[in-house]
Amino acid sequence: MPYTDDVAGARRWTKGPTGTLQIFSFKVAAIAEELRWPLHDPYFTLAGPTRAPVLSDANDSVRFEVVLKVKSSTNESEDKDLSYLARKYRIFKTNHSRGFSFVSTSKLSKLEWTVGYLAKSVEATISVQVIHGSWPHGCRGIFSAGTISLDDMQVSLLSLEDDKLPVTADGMITLSRHVACVEIEGELRISVATECANDEQVTTKDVAIFAPRKAGRSSAILKVYSSKNTVQQALVERSWISDIVGAPSALALCQYVQLCTRLRDAQLSTEPDRLIWRWTTDSQYSSRSCYDTLFQGAVTSGSWELNWKSWAPPRVKFFVWLACLDRCWTSERLARRGLPHAARCPLCDQFEETMAHILTGCPFSKTIWYEVLSWIRSTSGPPTVEGDFAEWWSPAVRTAPRQLRKGTSSLIMLTAWGIWKHRNAAVFDNARPSVASLFQDIRAEARQWADAGARGLRQLLLKLAFLG
Ligand SMILES: [Zn+2]
Repeated sequence: MPYTDDVAGARRWTKGPTGTLQIFSFKVAAIAEELRWPLHDPYFTLAGPTRAPVLSDANDSVRFEVVLKVKSSTNESEDKDLSYLARKYRIFKTNHSRGFSFVSTSKLSKLEWTVGYLAKSVEATISVQVIHGSWPHGCRGIFSAGTISLDDMQVSLLSLEDDKLPVTADGMITLSRHVACVEIEGELRISVATECANDEQVTTKDVAIFAPRKAGRSSAILKVYSSKNTVQQALVERSWISDIVGAPSALALCQYVQLCTRLRDAQLSTEPDRLIWRWTTDSQYSSRSCYDTLFQGAVTSGSWELNWKSWAPPRVKFFVWLACLDRCWTSERLARRGLPHAARCPLCDQFEETMAHILTGCPFSKTIWYEVLSWIRSTSGPPTVEGDFAEWWSPAVRTAPRQLRKGTSSLIMLTAWGIWKHRNAAVFDNARPSVASLFQDIRAEARQWADAGARGLRQLLLKLAFLG
């Protein structure tokens, strides 16, 4: 078989896919009574490339020669034969792959091996590289190759009895065997199975499937189960540090140093690990506490609560909400969108019209605020030129006696709404701005609101009537 790790087509093919024999496993099934088998595993590790013999057209038989020696620890000449046998098998070449088991018995041992005949096959050279992470602690692993046709037969590429993965500096895993055959029209399956025994035995497997080609390279990613270390295990000899992969950012390095410092003197109890939700007193998660957590550190504005809790018709509440968000169509906003707009404020004809100007800065509005606040005997001053309406609103309400605060709040909303309506009349109906008429309208509308159900406002008006 030609070596074909080239760009497809670069090398001329001299031979098509052919029948091959693949040795899957080799096992010492029994040994003579007087001998003692020193190993746990009766299976041999088939090391080296372990290339498959090709069955030629001229020869359909294959001869296996097996020499097993008992090594002397001191002198090679003292090695003893455990098995020495040579067998010839006739393989009937067909278009179908099939597996065989052979058994050979010698004076001292009984050997079993499994072989697969793979029809019209090519040979894959397999390499595995660690591209991320590290082998999980305390996990055994088996890397193996197989084909879809001989589903229950696997070529062992590497068997890890402990968690020591043989890896070179560039992350390449040193496989004990790295060649497997596959039918050109079949599927090559490379798998990694892990068995982790931490608190419980966990067995996982990931499989990558390759479509065989006559030449070229294919690659796929296999995921290795990562055992969930307990905090206790992670702290042993600071093994958690080795789980950090990749180049950490400056922020990650800072966090690493902080974590290192905190963990330095950490003492764990024997209690099992458990998750703790830090935002509730009983450490139990609740969606309510999660929602509240979202607002940690947020600056609350009293105006939102005032807006929705004060009595006002919905359209007024909506207007005040938009005004606080600066979402009303003032000249300044129209200008930002490139829409036709008035050059100056229609109420004072002096300044650019912004929402803040209309509600707080405009001399016209300031006069209105002054009139309204004087009417209700408020000790609060009108909103300032620099100030924000939403910020002024809440403290202004708090200057009122407690029982009059709801009414005061409603009246402030009504005044803001009145100024806006007055502005709209000036813009759209060419009405002349008038402090007197607007103040009159506000007082009239306040009575309407009180009649419509604004109890706070009603109380405020009664107090004003009493005071005369
Ligand atoms: Zn103005």
